[in-house]
Amino acid sequence: MEITFLGAAREVTGSCYLIRAGDAKILLDCGQIQGRRRDEARNLEVLSIPVSELDAVILSHAHIDHSGRIPLLVKQGYDGPIYTHHASQALCEIMLLDSGYLHEKDAEWENKRRSKLGRPLVTPLYTRDDAVRALPLFAGIAYGEEVEILPGVRMRLADAGHILGSAIVELWHDDGASTSKLVFSGDLGYKHAPVMRDPAKISTADLLLLESTYGDRLHRSFDETLRELGGIFEKARSAGGNILIPAFAVGRTQDLLYLLAQHYEEWGLSQWQVFLDSPMAIRATEVYSKFAALYDAPLFTRDGDVRSLPNLTCTLTTDESMAINQVKSGAIIIAGSGMCTGGRIHHHLTNNIERPETHLIFIGFQAYGTLGRRLVDGVDSVKLWGRDHVVRARIHTVGGLSAHADQEGLTDWYGQFDAAPQVCLVHGEERAQQGLSAALKKKYAVTPTIPDRGDTRKI
Ligand SMILES: [Zn+2]
Ligand SMILES: [Zn+2]
Repeated sequence: MEITFLGAAREVTGSCYLIRAGDAKILLDCGQIQGRRRDEARNLEVLSIPVSELDAVILSHAHIDHSGRIPLLVKQGYDGPIYTHHASQALCEIMLLDSGYLHEKDAEWENKRRSKLGRPLVTPLYTRDDAVRALPLFAGIAYGEEVEILPGVRMRLADAGHILGSAIVELWHDDGASTSKLVFSGDLGYKHAPVMRDPAKISTADLLLLESTYGDRLHRSFDETLRELGGIFEKARSAGGNILIPAFAVGRTQDLLYLLAQHYEEWGLSQWQVFLDSPMAIRATEVYSKFAALYDAPLFTRDGDVRSLPNLTCTLTTDESMAINQVKSGAIIIAGSGMCTGGRIHHHLTNNIERPETHLIFIGFQAYGTLGRRLVDGVDSVKLWGRDHVVRARIHTVGGLSAHADQEGLTDWYGQFDAAPQVCLVHGEERAQQGLSAALKKKYAVTPTIPDRGDTRKI
């Protein structure tokens, strides 16, 4: 087997690896690059080979930085199978269509600007229709099911414990003389995460591609995080305003709903009204409820309601969302986007950010350059819908709700292999990768490789 690192090499987003196994060519993940404009410009170049030569795609999980360029691949002519877990397939049906819609809107907005300046117009990276065309290519499989995807090439998915349907990928190539085995960790979950199970143990690999997002960090203990959240709810209650929580639609929102239900009495939540104000998050929660057998939390029922959170209102339509503007006190509003780069959270920020009784809680990673990051960094004012707003709200960053394993989680997971496999660190920024590399070296006397984009590795 030969692996070419096309994306998420010395960076976090754009997960994409080309695998040659004999004559077969397989793409492992086809994620979107998210971040600075010049990085995002690289989204157009998906493959290093003609798309017609690609035989199969394997997708580790539904997050856009792993799945987001599948519609582009289809737009470029790919019409082969896309193997992923059934639940990831169901999530992609929502997420890829939404992503296509957002690309159309982005291009529309950019073209308005360009036509004023007399500049040439742009086309969207892909459209909602391109995403629709990708959906029939998905072939859902279950955890533990071994599938021969091409002659001599077998694969199996194991629970990565990161989000619903997230998978560790095991891939074997038998060339007639010998068998080689590649394991891709995908994004690995945090061991004590509230909803998902712990990442599955894998026993053998000739080469491991290991994610390293938090490779240089140790998460705060989960109990401490719960106490911190409880404390914020108490303060917010006596302040008498609203609580805003920007949240990622898939994964973090469901974790949060679960925690709110679990600590309903303890956190005095009966005095609040909880709004889930994100169509994507509402639909994703419905998918979670359909796949309740995949996690331990009894929270999500088959018809999609969040059983133990009696005061939850899911606001799907714009009118329902706008009605929340009338609530000046006692509302917990969960809305996207997670880093405040767009979405309904902008309306709620507009209405609440100048009020000192508002509490704004960040529970996810805020990338450099986003509005969320600027708020976390303590700016005095922000521009929303073209108008400046003085920031008077109390801002909290709760760091312990990560959907990723920390350094200890990653090294422990590596430690459960029977014999320490060779390892390439992927999906991480430089500091995190150096940190994880040093930790693995110290604990297991292995020397990880940190591949660069375009590098190739043989096993
Ligand atoms: Zn992920
Ligand atoms: Zn990822």
